[in-house]
Amino acid sequence: MKDVSKVFSSGTVALTDMSLTVNGGEFVSLLGPSGCGKSTALRIIAGLGDTTSGTIDWPSSRINSKGLPDGDISFVFQEPTLMPWATVFGNVYLPLKLRGISKSAAKADILAALDRVGLKDFVDAYPRELSGGMKMRVSIARALVTKPKLLLMDEPFAALDEITRQKLNDDVLRLWRETGITVIFVTHSVFESAYLSNRIIVMKARPGRVHDDFPLVTSEERG
Ligand code: ADP
Ligand code: ADP
Repeated sequence: MKDVSKVFSSGTVALTDMSLTVNGGEFVSLLGPSGCGKSTALRIIAGLGDTTSGTIDWPSSRINSKGLPDGDISFVFQEPTLMPWATVFGNVYLPLKLRGISKSAAKADILAALDRVGLKDFVDAYPRELSGGMKMRVSIARALVTKPKLLLMDEPFAALDEITRQKLNDDVLRLWRETGITVIFVTHSVFESAYLSNRIIVMKARPGRVHDDFPLVTSEERG
């Protein structure tokens, strides 16, 4: 992000000249109090919102007409947002279906993504049969099935109980180690950011930009 500012039509200033460079393979937390602009920053990175000024620069040569690296980004929202009428398999299939890939061609990737989140035995279940933690795992599998390079997560586990959240944090950490994916994880929890990431970006409201940048340990050091 280079000097990104965001003023909503309501007049709310969410970001002011925010600059941030994230390197491949990092697990970065965006940490800060409610309303400091974390979600706005993440959505702008994902191309889900425009900047008022400033730019998002990608190293990738595969930039599509929207200025985004094609297919390389996945987003996990706070709500798992599953389709209630589709099975776990159908929900994870969706992003591949939208890319025109047939169900039979997608099957192996869908099962691999579900295996990564420990849900291989639940392919035929419907969302209503799953616990909150399991629904979130399906949502993570759906994000992973396209094999993105960058995973953006916006307070993904905030609505879950403490024990389930801790289990999912461990899952995400394992995923990151195993896949080498780059993660940007929005949270207002100091504990969560320290537990998960190898770099913590602290944001502050007004002016809504990076206040501090703490590199913790490298992924190699962390093992
Ligand atoms: P955080 O994720 O850190 O809680 P947000 O990025 O959601 O913060 O919000 C930053 C500021 O922008 C807040 O003051 C919020 O009320 C405001 N805001 C967020 N989205 C919108 C919107 N769509 N329209 C107007 N104001 C918004
Ligand atoms: P989570 O930790 O994912 O929130 P729960 O604590 O609710 O899961 O459930 C513990 C375990 O019980 C799950 O990991 C799963 O193996 C099993 N389970 C939960 N709900 C169901 C269900 N509807 N059908 C079959 N097994 C289930």
